[in-house]
Amino acid sequence: MLPPAGERVFQGMAVAPGIAEGKVLIHFQEDEVVPFRDLSDADLDAEVTRFEGALLATRRELLELQERLSSSAGAGDASIFDAHLLVLEDPSLIDEVNKGIRLKKNNAEFVFQSVVHRFIKTLSAIDDAYLRERAIDLEDVARRVIRHLLGKTGQRLSGHDRNHIIVADELTPSDTATLNKDNVAGFITEKGSKTSHTAIMARALGIPAIVGLEGICDKLENGDIILIDGYSGRVFLNPSPETLAGYQQLAEEKEHIEESLETLRESDSVTLDGRHIILSANIELPEELDDVASCGAEGIGLYRTEFLYFNRATPPDENEQYAIYRQVAERIAPQSVIIRTLDIGGDKPTECLDLVEEENPFLGCRAIRFCLRHPEIFKTQLRAILRAAVHGNLRLMFPMISGREELLHAKALLDEAMDELRVRGEAFQVDIELGIMIEVPSAAIIADLLAKEVKFFSIGTNDLLQYLMAADRGNERIAHLHDPAHPAVTRTLKTIVDAAHAAGIWVGVCGELAGDIEFTPLLVGLGIDELSASAALVPRVKKAIRSLDVAACEAIVNHALSGERAVEIYARTTGLARTRYGDLF
Ligand code: PEP
Ligand code: MG
Repeated sequence: MLPPAGERVFQGMAVAPGIAEGKVLIHFQEDEVVPFRDLSDADLDAEVTRFEGALLATRRELLELQERLSSSAGAGDASIFDAHLLVLEDPSLIDEVNKGIRLKKNNAEFVFQSVVHRFIKTLSAIDDAYLRERAIDLEDVARRVIRHLLGKTGQRLSGHDRNHIIVADELTPSDTATLNKDNVAGFITEKGSKTSHTAIMARALGIPAIVGLEGICDKLENGDIILIDGYSGRVFLNPSPETLAGYQQLAEEKEHIEESLETLRESDSVTLDGRHIILSANIELPEELDDVASCGAEGIGLYRTEFLYFNRATPPDENEQYAIYRQVAERIAPQSVIIRTLDIGGDKPTECLDLVEEENPFLGCRAIRFCLRHPEIFKTQLRAILRAAVHGNLRLMFPMISGREELLHAKALLDEAMDELRVRGEAFQVDIELGIMIEVPSAAIIADLLAKEVKFFSIGTNDLLQYLMAADRGNERIAHLHDPAHPAVTRTLKTIVDAAHAAGIWVGVCGELAGDIEFTPLLVGLGIDELSASAALVPRVKKAIRSLDVAACEAIVNHALSGERAVEIYARTTGLARTRYGDLF
């Protein structure tokens, strides 16, 4: 018998807290390499049978995925697989492959891939959005069939159990949206950063995650046992009994802290000297509503509606959106929900919208820019929101506003959406409160002008920092540049807060910084009126607010504004944080 392999440790960047132990499951995104074989006449029947077996296995896999998705995300989302299933029954495709195997006398995967490529080429060449979507479905299904033919099953993201830890080069936010605590224990990736949407999603779902582990896919193998520490970013291959015991104890301690935070659920988020800071929750999917209700938040400060557009072949229509927004509004009422219009693009691609490939997606036609170019898609969403707002307390927010003209253009389309509802005789909320995200430096600089046009600001620190520092938020190699302690950040935030207050409107923060309790002193000192963080983080932010006093926080800001070095600003804000609520670290 082989001796047990020794423990090895890899260091990455912790992006979602928690400890998980499980078996490695490597997730490949790239295409499979398809082998080529000549067959003898005697092999042909068996090869056709093997191909048909792979079609059946793919069908079973898709039905299982569909069932899983419909119980976690609803039947609407699960219908994405209907088109995939149809591909598997396409007689012309199946016929061509069967004939090809017999005529060319080659192996099934090789013939299948050639036929599929030809079909995709034909479909993509036709200028028709529907047919182009079918080409994408075909590509996806073909990948699954080929994996079955190659005997490489069981490596897709879903369809596992909580004993597995996904190891990948990169996961997309739509990949992450299909995960839940029951089908995966955690995930680790080579690429990514704290504010990438995959990381945000992991925190929302409560799945421990570590990113920035260069070369990890080559260092681990399927079935390896690993332990991941979503607090420190360490990954242990073959964890020793001492490591396991140490982590067992840490897990118990963390559980104890979470239990003690639960007692704060009903208490207000006020500072020691009585300033109320509204504390709300961010959500991506309506399934998170239970967490919002139980975390003690005052409503939803950011509803990222783009997640509705993931993992499906066609965008949701007005009625589907209306039903979902209404459900969210009713569930959270009388508290408010800030519903952000479609913020697609950047690191949030989706196959259901015609997003053109761009060299710099984060600097490209994303969010409000996409919506202004596609007024019908935008107005469909606006109409759905306006109608749903009748059933609760919805506020509307535009993302990525960079200038006044852009904002006025978006407002004009909002007026058009209202006119359309009027013509239809539909009930809607006429005086819905409108706000914008401040996440582009130009908007921060002219915040005084923009403040005249809206009722509130919500600062998107994830994007604001990426654009201020000119550092891609998803790139692990420059993640250190996303430093909220940089003096430029404090100065920019101060400009925004002052402009908002001078105009008599309130200002929140809904980027990940809002949930980072190391920086709560800085944000409180700046005079931020609202903080919105992922539901899992709300209790600790509440404890932080309740442990601080405004005067001490303002002293930190005054210091930061006088041009101190980032390390000193960081030391001061975290110094106060650790003194006041050190047990949370
Ligand atoms: C942000 O940019 O800070 C933000 C909250 O929006 P998102 O993370 O969805 O881009
Ligand atoms: Mg943003």
